[in-house]
Amino acid sequence: MRPTTRTAARIARPGVRVLDGISRAGARPQPLTLLGWHRLGRTSGDGLTTTFDDFRRHLDVLDEWGATVLPLDTAVELMAAGELPPRAVALTFDDGYASVSEQAWPELRRRGLPATMFVVSGYLDGRRTFSWDRNDSDVERIRLVERPGLIEAAADGLDIGSHTVSHRWLRHLNPREIAVELAASRAGLEDVLQRPVRSFAYPMGGWTPAIREQVAAAGYDTAITVDRGRNGQSHDPLSLRRCFAFDRPDDLRLQLDGGFTWVRPIDTFRQRRGPRL
Ligand SMILES: [Zn+2]
Repeated sequence: MRPTTRTAARIARPGVRVLDGISRAGARPQPLTLLGWHRLGRTSGDGLTTTFDDFRRHLDVLDEWGATVLPLDTAVELMAAGELPPRAVALTFDDGYASVSEQAWPELRRRGLPATMFVVSGYLDGRRTFSWDRNDSDVERIRLVERPGLIEAAADGLDIGSHTVSHRWLRHLNPREIAVELAASRAGLEDVLQRPVRSFAYPMGGWTPAIREQVAAAGYDTAITVDRGRNGQSHDPLSLRRCFAFDRPDDLRLQLDGGFTWVRPIDTFRQRRGPRL
């Protein structure tokens, strides 16, 4: 029988009676795979954009692979408890592009799949563009979600996390500046959404143990890096590993099977060097 993607709807929360049909008795704790995307657009190849067709193929690959797609907070709770189902995955989107709330989210919702979008709170007024997008003439591709669209998507079930106020490389900021980025973004988003915001994604994956301590002090439960690989039961929930989905479905399959774990030393080097932006 063809495996199907299990979804949040079939999972009891928060009582964690995980999953019909999967026995955990005597099983080893399962790892958590976090997948990321940035935006959808007509053409890919810029390192940030996934075409809508490729995105749908990614979701098909998850389905064929037999992924259990969980809401991020549930996934991290189950990970820590050693109660994740096999092939547990959570889906994330960084930066708050409008194509995510307007195109990716409706497709995910149609398939019953939960997801989290990490939003830069200082970029919600429809007037700002990220520095790396300033020379891009495709206005639709670089368009960011604005407050009304964010409220609507959140009300429709899209989970929202913080991605700071200004998307700066935190490792270059002093502790006071970092504290503002963490607290003001959370407060700003909570004010817009009128609900708690407990998850965070480090801009460009830049983090250190000291920054991680500030993330904890700011009240976040979950924080995500771009260090590649999967997360075992004992993995720190405030420095979770994540893979951004490659366009080719075969590559995504390799990512899901843990085939890119060997690149971790490159991630360490990249952390020291800082972003290319
Ligand atoms: Zn980002």
